[in-house]
Amino acid sequence: MVVTCLPSPPPERRLALVPVAIEKLVKLSHVVRLPAGYGGPLHLSDADLERAGAEVVAADAAASSADVVLVVSPPSPKDLEGLKRGATVVGFLDPFFSLPTVRALAEGGFRALCVELMPRTTYAQKMDALSSQASLAGYAAVLAAAERIDKVLPMMSTPAGTIAPARVFVLGVGVAGLQAIATAKRLGARVDAYDTRPVVAEQVRSLGARFVEFDLGGEQGQTAQGYAQALTDEQLARQREQMAKVVAQSDIVITTAQVFGRAAPRLLSAAAIAGMKPGSVVVDLAASTGGNVEGTVAGEEVVTDEGVRLMGLHPLPAAVARDASLMYAANLVHLIAHAWTDDALKSTDDEIVDGVLLIDEGAVRHDAVRARLEADR
Ligand code: NAD
Repeated sequence: MVVTCLPSPPPERRLALVPVAIEKLVKLSHVVRLPAGYGGPLHLSDADLERAGAEVVAADAAASSADVVLVVSPPSPKDLEGLKRGATVVGFLDPFFSLPTVRALAEGGFRALCVELMPRTTYAQKMDALSSQASLAGYAAVLAAAERIDKVLPMMSTPAGTIAPARVFVLGVGVAGLQAIATAKRLGARVDAYDTRPVVAEQVRSLGARFVEFDLGGEQGQTAQGYAQALTDEQLARQREQMAKVVAQSDIVITTAQVFGRAAPRLLSAAAIAGMKPGSVVVDLAASTGGNVEGTVAGEEVVTDEGVRLMGLHPLPAAVARDASLMYAANLVHLIAHAWTDDALKSTDDEIVDGVLLIDEGAVRHDAVRARLEADR
């Protein structure tokens, strides 16, 4: 089958296919037909893509002839107009928030595989793009904070005196949070971390960080898929109150808390941020879904009146676009290799296909996404 990629507008710099992934698809007997200039954001020339086995053609010719269209971010309804009817769009589709795209995919008669819906099983790990990108985001968040803060991260003993290590607080310890902890520890910081899922306490400690416990009352835990359960308003208020103290002692705060399919929980108020030392840095990795921190703006840096820098970095893995693309493209190649047999998509008897197949023959198959679409009418 013919596979192409749709470019994403800046500041996105990630690509859905890079040369090693193109080689693998060609070995699987697929035709990779890419729009001229596709590799530009990663300084890959058309010749680099051709050397890997791709055909490089005009953008409209690539789009209109492809059976499978790979994306890094949800295509706009206008992007879809140039695609072949019945084509399968595969990638990050942000299904709960990009409702016009989901609607246009369904109404346009496309099929859509949404990688955010990948089952979180051991077998699916190699296709799990949320995890591969979250891991890089956790790393990039720490480096961005380290670069902006006016302090070193490790303890330093010098003849002029001893510098205390920076204190880093990681709020939300999923895939991104764990990588943030590991990166901050490698840089010598003293790391505290917190998550509502008690199961992560042991993982935090095994990385040499301290797990902070708050008494929220009531139930808290995780779903069968491993995602956090949403807290009640009362629990969130208790959490904010107790957290303010840890936040005030921290030089860097990295927040990663998300609840699948919902806006991110608001965990840090402007008052809590005002309690931090001037020059401190907060990186909000949930900025694109509403933010964990009052005052962060997705894609921007804001310095508060008290001198605290709020970084709503988005899309964060774009900061390490080369490796992020390598991982994302590998996830997609594994998905294609698994989900198609002889150019036909497997049936929904397959657990992976059943999980990621968001739209088939004009119908949205995911109940929560369908409910969101109906509420949006
Ligand atoms: P996520 O991006 O949905 O959320 C990030 C973290 O924020 C989570 O740890 C969550 O518990 C936490 N959080 C949510 N609300 C919070 C609040 N009010 N306060 C503090 N923290 C809060 O999570 P993720 O990185 O996608 O990982 C979710 C789980 O799935 C993890 O256990 C992860 O290890 C697991 N996982 C499993 C697989 C697999 O088996 N294939 C793959 C990826 C992730």
